[in-house]
Amino acid sequence: LFSQPPHSDLVYLDNAATTHKPQIVISAISDYYLQHNANAGRSVHSLASKSAEIFEQSRKTIASFFGAKDQELILTRNTTEAINGVALGWARHQLETDDVILSTSLEHHSNLVVWQQVCAEKNAKLKLVNLTLDGQINQFDLQQQLKQHTPKLLAITHLSNVTGSYQDLQALVKIVKKVSPKTKILIDGAQSAGRIKINFDQLEIDFFAFSGHKMYGPMGVGGLLVKEKILIEDEMKPWLFGGGMIDQVNSQSSTFQLDPRQRFVAGTADVASAVGLAVACDYLTAIGMDEVLKHEQDLAQYTLEKLNVVEDLKICGSTKANESNEHLIGRLGPVSFVHHKYQAHDVAQVLDHHHIAVRSGHHCCMPLHSHCRWPATVRISFGVYSCHEDIEKLVEVVTHLDRYLS
Ligand code: PLP
Repeated sequence: LFSQPPHSDLVYLDNAATTHKPQIVISAISDYYLQHNANAGRSVHSLASKSAEIFEQSRKTIASFFGAKDQELILTRNTTEAINGVALGWARHQLETDDVILSTSLEHHSNLVVWQQVCAEKNAKLKLVNLTLDGQINQFDLQQQLKQHTPKLLAITHLSNVTGSYQDLQALVKIVKKVSPKTKILIDGAQSAGRIKINFDQLEIDFFAFSGHKMYGPMGVGGLLVKEKILIEDEMKPWLFGGGMIDQVNSQSSTFQLDPRQRFVAGTADVASAVGLAVACDYLTAIGMDEVLKHEQDLAQYTLEKLNVVEDLKICGSTKANESNEHLIGRLGPVSFVHHKYQAHDVAQVLDHHHIAVRSGHHCCMPLHSHCRWPATVRISFGVYSCHEDIEKLVEVVTHLDRYLS
């Protein structure tokens, strides 16, 4: 059912970096190029009309997978580009001197460096919520900082790509609405999209960013969901300009399409990737997002139980899956660890020697690693095709590292 990895016995536990692609996703992309390839929304010939129709249908499927309206979806290359879109299309127009953006030290660099840049440009302030000693967001500090700064934006990860800790979005929204109701909320959904069901229309969040390649879709496509009101009231403006999104152009100025489905698409759209991502969404829907989440919880729990008893190893973050604190925090995968005797890259290389793929390093989360004094960590992350046997193979090697490294 999936793309063939180089070794048939490969144990792939690097799904937080990217997932493998179901054969139906690859076939859909190849079918598009073989049978329907034309520039969508440009020429009037039948092939181009068909391509435009396929693109629109794919956009609808993707938006509906996230419980969003078609016009609330802006396709981007990935999460990083989606967050940059909020910075360039929204924050640059809305931020004034001394305004505050609130984020956390748990964030991936994609949801941190962007805010450093925009705050420097606008003379605004970036404040970070503290973490607990084991790398979870300090919920008390989050509330205090919301109260103290009434930030313009709270930009926060839904599911950490290192500690697996996640925010219960409903509980988070409740707090923000109570303490600082005007604060806009941006959720970095890079790790949660494709693992946790998102109902964008039912959540009072303003922006949700995701990557297609982390949810069984192709690389090069992701998206930004934006609440319709923000788009209609022109609070968010286009940040890329060129063909396709214009209304009228004269030599010195231009006007732009009002419909967000055109307004935010500058240049030729990547139709084939949208097609692939739509099929990936259908693939997940067919499995059932409840099942996908249950599977993730089970694998996280199983891995934590097995690793908890391995000597010289410290798990990063909570050591129990689904631990909850008033439903606001809990954990899933990934499961990362520090080995007291061996460096993370050495552990990853020994695992690779056994055809087990994990990631080692800081995982684009340097502030988190500095705060917790983890020089580097080994990260195990799951996909729908991962199973207990994969974990057992990994634990067997990790338990006997002395054989390979001492
Ligand atoms: N945010 C989180 C939590 C991530 O884990 C990642 C990637 O690993 C990103 C953002 C960036 O995703 P991308 O590189 O697909 O833009």
